[in-house]
Amino acid sequence: MKISDILNKNKVSFSLEIFPPKRGMELTGAKNIIKELASLDPSFISVTYGSTGENSDNTIEMAKEVQLVNNITALAHMTCVSSDRKKVASVLDSLEDSGIHNILALRGDIPEGMDFPRQDGYRYASDLMKEIKDRGTFCIGGACYPEGHPDSKTLEDDIENIKIKINNGCEFLTTQMFFDNNILYTYMYKLLRSGIDVPIVAGIMPILNSRMANKMCELNATAFPQSFRMIVEKYANDDESLKQAGIAYATHQIVDLIANGFNNIHLYTMNRPDVARSIYNNISSLLK
Ligand code: FAD
Repeated sequence: MKISDILNKNKVSFSLEIFPPKRGMELTGAKNIIKELASLDPSFISVTYGSTGENSDNTIEMAKEVQLVNNITALAHMTCVSSDRKKVASVLDSLEDSGIHNILALRGDIPEGMDFPRQDGYRYASDLMKEIKDRGTFCIGGACYPEGHPDSKTLEDDIENIKIKINNGCEFLTTQMFFDNNILYTYMYKLLRSGIDVPIVAGIMPILNSRMANKMCELNATAFPQSFRMIVEKYANDDESLKQAGIAYATHQIVDLIANGFNNIHLYTMNRPDVARSIYNNISSLLK
């Protein structure tokens, strides 16, 4: 099923994510995680793409596992940073051959010192989207940033670039994580005012320990509201309590989103089916 059809239904969508094992590593663990995630009957499961592109085969394998073995729609991620045109063509061929027709097309984070864009490669996610769109068989999604992408001078510049994604075939957008729903609501208003009306999927990241919290702030320049900062500070040295509080906080964010009519929720599962299940149990009636 195309993700655009799932998102356009007038009901709540709840999707999950898996990152595949590194190249050459055993796949059994990841397959077990997929099985556990699939038992929650998510709307789709996305499969991330390693930043080096070396494990693209595993992305394809895991997407097949999601869709062909567990019967859940798969969304395969792809990045420009790690692939030249030849590599992109071969990944697209493999996905098409496997019946995987949903792709989240991304630029990827540029490793320090990398000569980017690659020779015979793509510079922006929107360039990759155009290539994928020309095939005519894929539903394409992209990333968006309620607090602005770190490379953009202003949020408005970033939103202008999203319009290019949509002109090049992007049919839905998944947000970077955020911890203050008001930031998303303001962003939605700005998108709509700019004429962007594709479905937006809210990316929710449950924070499970203080190392994770610090990393998220550093990497994504994500604002923690005061209430959440207090939780992270209080349980900085108590992982078990922070995990429980993080699950409760993510649940609260989702309940607030759904109550405000925001229908598409994506959980950054971080390969933790136990956490996905806890959150699912907290909101299962809301998903019906
Ligand atoms: P782009 O859309 O290309 O944007 C990058 C920057 O360039 C932005 O500042 C944008 O405003 C600007 N820009 C875009 N188009 C133009 C243009 N035409 N002219 C001028 N400026 C422009 N990374 C991985 O390695 N693997 C993954 O699986 C992965 N999954 C992700 C899933 C989600 C939902 C999100 C939010 C991020 C994910 N990432 C992943 C991280 C992502 O690759 C990085 O955030 C990366 O820095 C930007 O990717 P993008 O697709 O948003 O890039």
